[in-house]
Amino acid sequence: MPIYQYKSIGKGCEYCSKGFEQMQSMKDKPLTKCPKCSGKVKKVPALFSGYSPLLSDSNLRDKGFTKLVKKDKGTYEKTT
Ligand SMILES: [Zn+2]
Repeated sequence: MPIYQYKSIGKGCEYCSKGFEQMQSMKDKPLTKCPKCSGKVKKVPALFSGYSPLLSDSNLRDKGFTKLVKKDKGTYEKTT
């Protein structure tokens, strides 16, 4: 059975706010509610699992982070 990922739309509870995985049959309807708190959830495309757009270079820059890349022994270069 495939595993689907869900995440709360609103505030959610501890379980769904971080996202959770639900094993479902292909013919089951997607969940719309968190099984724990009944808050609304949406399906997260499996394609994006394991990929975090939050950590892309431009996003880090937007958030004021600086990414340091190790150049050679003991020196770091600022890339952002
Ligand atoms: Zn919940």
